[in-house]
Amino acid sequence: MTSTRHLRPATQLVHGGTSRSGFGETSEAIFLTQGFVYDSAEAAEARFKGEDPGFIYSRYANPTNDMFEKRMCAMEGAEDARATASGMAAISAALLCQLKAGDHVVSARALFGSCRWVVETLLPRYGVESTLVDGRDLTNFEAAIRPNTKVFFLESPTNPTLEVVDIAGVAKLANQIGAKLVVDNVFATPLMQKPFELGAHIVAYSATKHIDGQGRCLGGVILSDKDWIDENLHDYFRHTGPSLSPFNAWTLLKGLETLPLRVRQQTENATKVADFLADHPAITRVIYPGRADHPQAEICARQMKGGSTLVALELKGGKPAAFAMQNKLEVIKLSNNLGDTKSLITHPATTTHKNLAEEARAELGIGPGVLRLSMGIEDADDLIEDLDHALSGL
Ligand SMILES: *Cc1c(COP(=O)(O)O)cnc(C)c1O
Repeated sequence: MTSTRHLRPATQLVHGGTSRSGFGETSEAIFLTQGFVYDSAEAAEARFKGEDPGFIYSRYANPTNDMFEKRMCAMEGAEDARATASGMAAISAALLCQLKAGDHVVSARALFGSCRWVVETLLPRYGVESTLVDGRDLTNFEAAIRPNTKVFFLESPTNPTLEVVDIAGVAKLANQIGAKLVVDNVFATPLMQKPFELGAHIVAYSATKHIDGQGRCLGGVILSDKDWIDENLHDYFRHTGPSLSPFNAWTLLKGLETLPLRVRQQTENATKVADFLADHPAITRVIYPGRADHPQAEICARQMKGGSTLVALELKGGKPAAFAMQNKLEVIKLSNNLGDTKSLITHPATTTHKNLAEEARAELGIGPGVLRLSMGIEDADDLIEDLDHALSGL
């Protein structure tokens, strides 16, 4: 396919990266193959020497995965990418591939649970020091810098209380000391926030969330400039094997085609639901990055193109109210997943964040009455009626 660089994002998400076989298929082909055959021994030698750019083995690269990686690059404005089997494979590879014993990482403390485990527990096992800071205040990142600081890591908005971190500010600090900034951009979605434009060096996604967006398969992706990938990720990726299944790469490619439609509808629903909840007497607090009353509305406006698809709320009645409300919902399903076409709700204190110490949960504002809503693409009026019914009598 000729270059799609000049095309707008929605068009790139339909056509970007497509590479058709000799059959001229309309939809992308699934190359469900482990290996590739060579025409001759000389051809195999040339491929292994890198003189011929063809495929060798699907742990390294695969034509369907290649289409997914290229489409992600087109959307994100990245030079290169590697697709992984899950979001956690992407985050752990993005960190481990560039760190060694004696290095130091500074990370915002409000992180997806498994990301926090990687930074707080796994990295130190290999001699990598890590400092977790309150990411709402940029000066905390600066104060945590040591002579051996190599990587900054953050997600924004954060899970589940939707705090935001000043990405451009952290990128500037990283550049001042020659460190790299890795951004987990899942909650914002690729459409609502462009970390590379804000100065991030590496962007990682759980494609399980909005990119699939239909609850089917796990996946992830790491994007950066070609030099960083060649020097840090290329060998790590080939030899540790976090590779994505080509079948899942195909599912994710199809997900990308409808991503803007879904995220637009989810964001519209989130806006309406947040406005409804904000006025409800059973609720003490609604946190939505698209609302003027978000504690960091100014940073949201600066770095996000919209409030995105998640809403956090806190019920006056604590855990009993949160449980009673969840049990009365009919349209909105109870699930710890997010980014799905179906609206989902979770109680972080007893599910996704149950492993954190009480104190760490309190630091992050995850009280017993906090719920996280991931908005789907249903009719907003049905979602509001469902919530209204579930909140009645609390
Ligand atoms: C889900 C998620 C991950 C992990 O992704 P998996 O695909 O479940 O491995 C990492 N970061 C954030 C912010 C997530 O929401």
